Amino acid sequence: MTDKVIIVTGGSRGIGAATALLAAQRGYAVCVNYVSNREAADSVAGQIRAAGGRAITVAGDVSKEEDVLRLFTTTDQELGRVTALVNNAGILEHQSRLDTMSAERITRVLVANVTGSLLCAREAVKRMSTRHGGQGGAIVNLSSMAAKLGGPGEYVDYAASKGAIDAFTIGLAKEVAAEGIRVNAVRPGLIYTDIHASGGEAGRVDRLKDAVPMKRGGTAEEVANAILWLLSEESSYATGTFIDVSGGR
Ligand code: NAP
Repeated sequence: MTDKVIIVTGGSRGIGAATALLAAQRGYAVCVNYVSNREAADSVAGQIRAAGGRAITVAGDVSKEEDVLRLFTTTDQELGRVTALVNNAGILEHQSRLDTMSAERITRVLVANVTGSLLCAREAVKRMSTRHGGQGGAIVNLSSMAAKLGGPGEYVDYAASKGAIDAFTIGLAKEVAAEGIRVNAVRPGLIYTDIHASGGEAGRVDRLKDAVPMKRGGTAEEVANAILWLLSEESSYATGTFIDVSGGR
């Protein structure tokens, strides 16, 4: 068993895939979670194995408790006790104003982004906390600059879910700080991934990039670098804190 074991939720594409690949380079055995795109998850795990690393893929919807339980027990059995969790899986839906959003859509977004992250963190704490016989660990949550900017006219439901992630990061960090677990978050800005197509505008980053102080969108790898730093011993005195990876936006 490898000492360092990481679960990356939504590790099949975008920021999660970049994080899974970088974690493998840093010596983690990696569980690549995905919800439906098996081919993408297999590609990430295949790249890790081809470079000599250890990786498994586990399908599972983080908004479903039974899937989260299976994600963690499979990792226990195949890679060993988890030492790092990246709560990366997240969704947004078509750009729209609140006055046209259905209750079902709002619930889908909040459950996937908030409940999913809370359930995964709960399972990680049970395994990492010295209170439960664990050796400690680190959790990084994916928030968003939308938590500060609010997503008006596009997705205030998504922005609200990321505001909840910020509050949860601060609270859980304090709750488990004396039990060997650090909990931090990154707030990406405009990053080139598929998520913008999910909102109905694949070219959103290019439309908005001139309003970014650095005048460009970011890459998934630039976000992964911040995540891996927060997971590493180099950030050993940081908990309940945030890194905005947003080009100054
Ligand atoms: P993405 O390219 O759309 O990829 C989403 C990933 O999450 C995929 O691997 C997908 O799996 C997985 N996923 C979606 N719903 C899931 C569920 N219910 N259970 C498990 N996995 C699920 O997204 P991204 O842009 O990389 O975003 C990653 C995180 O960063 C999200 O939390 C997002 O809110 C945050 N973020 C992104 C940006 C940005 O500009 N890209 C900015 C701020 C914050 P499949 O491949 O199986 O579909």
